[in-house]
Amino acid sequence: MPNCPRCHQSINAQAVTCPYCRTPLKAYGHPGIHLHRATGELSLCESCIYHADDSCNFPQRPHARECTLYQDIEQNQLNINQYNNDAWGKGKALRGFLPSITNWLKRNQIWLLLLALLLVSFLIALF
Ligand code: SF4
Ligand SMILES: [Zn+2]
Repeated sequence: MPNCPRCHQSINAQAVTCPYCRTPLKAYGHPGIHLHRATGELSLCESCIYHADDSCNFPQRPHARECTLYQDIEQNQLNINQYNNDAWGKGKALRGFLPSITNWLKRNQIWLLLLALLLVSFLIALF
């Protein structure tokens, strides 16, 4: 459960306002629109990717203390790293899987050859 940015009480993630201090937590009273708030001295823009890449044209930039579109640079980087690690892990699994198949084929090639010969003989006998 998240904490209220003002009174730090534990609150329901869907709460529109904090039940303890009445701080608005969602924009426009809608539970689906999260309202980010600056908690320290710095504005949200200081750590927002849209400020860093200069793509934000909100009038409150660069001094926004509340914003619905805020995207934390560090969190975004963590997500990218996590995604890259997952992708690397999957690639590693595949790279480990392919040599084991190749080894298995090499070890059993005589049986595979006999099986192929049997299948061809069987097909010739049928037609
Ligand atoms: S999206 Fe919000 S927090 Fe981010 S730069 Fe624009 S105004 Fe600032
Ligand atoms: Zn509160």
